[in-house]
Amino acid sequence: MIFNDTFKHHGKRKLLVEELKRKLITDLHVLDAIEFIPRHFFMDNAFTEYAYQDKAFPIEAGQTISQPYTVAFQTQLLEIKKGEKVLEIGTGSGYQTSVLCKMGARVFSIERHKVLNSRAQKSAFSPKYAPQTFFGDGFMGLETHAPYDKIIVTCGAPFIPQELVKQLKTYGKMVVPVGSDVQVMKLVYKQNDTDIQVVDHDKFKFVPMLENKVP
Ligand code: SAH
Repeated sequence: MIFNDTFKHHGKRKLLVEELKRKLITDLHVLDAIEFIPRHFFMDNAFTEYAYQDKAFPIEAGQTISQPYTVAFQTQLLEIKKGEKVLEIGTGSGYQTSVLCKMGARVFSIERHKVLNSRAQKSAFSPKYAPQTFFGDGFMGLETHAPYDKIIVTCGAPFIPQELVKQLKTYGKMVVPVGSDVQVMKLVYKQNDTDIQVVDHDKFKFVPMLENKVP
């Protein structure tokens, strides 16, 4: 990992933000966070040179750091406000987690790969933006800190996990990509304890959300 943020990196981030604007990301808080967070801090050395390309890259444990557009799209759908409690499923590199922290959310993030969970705990990019990270199965959510204003699932789920809907506040929102090979980005609004409203957005490609197989 390279923890050196230069003018050159900042310049590349500005270009990335311009690219995301062209791709119709309009939430200024999301764009500010992407301009601020050094994505190269969250990537293996072999790829840091490409950190500001709008692409996903491999990280440890056969997983990926999400494409910046995907991070921006999911975050924009959630309309994050300062102080909101957000649960993330799939900490991975910790990049999405840091974007949420920078936006002022109180972030709880779960990861099923021990190696990624430990790294995220050590490499929070600044104590000011430190999330609370947990090792476990995202299908179970994190009941101890529930309910959440917002939930973001960053792996491809086979269905909308009911336990997560339960842990969402009434009028809360969850963004979850659902499908096997390709996933439809679903925005779930919780209307009350029994009713949800689901809006389908574009298709994306995520690594799978794996059930009951914490390695
Ligand atoms: N937000 C991450 C995306 C990482 S890829 C980033 O920006 O880097 C998705 C992550 O979800 C992987 O690290 C994978 O191990 C994790 N994952 C898959 N199924 C899971 C589950 N059931 N519970 C928790 N994490 C899971």
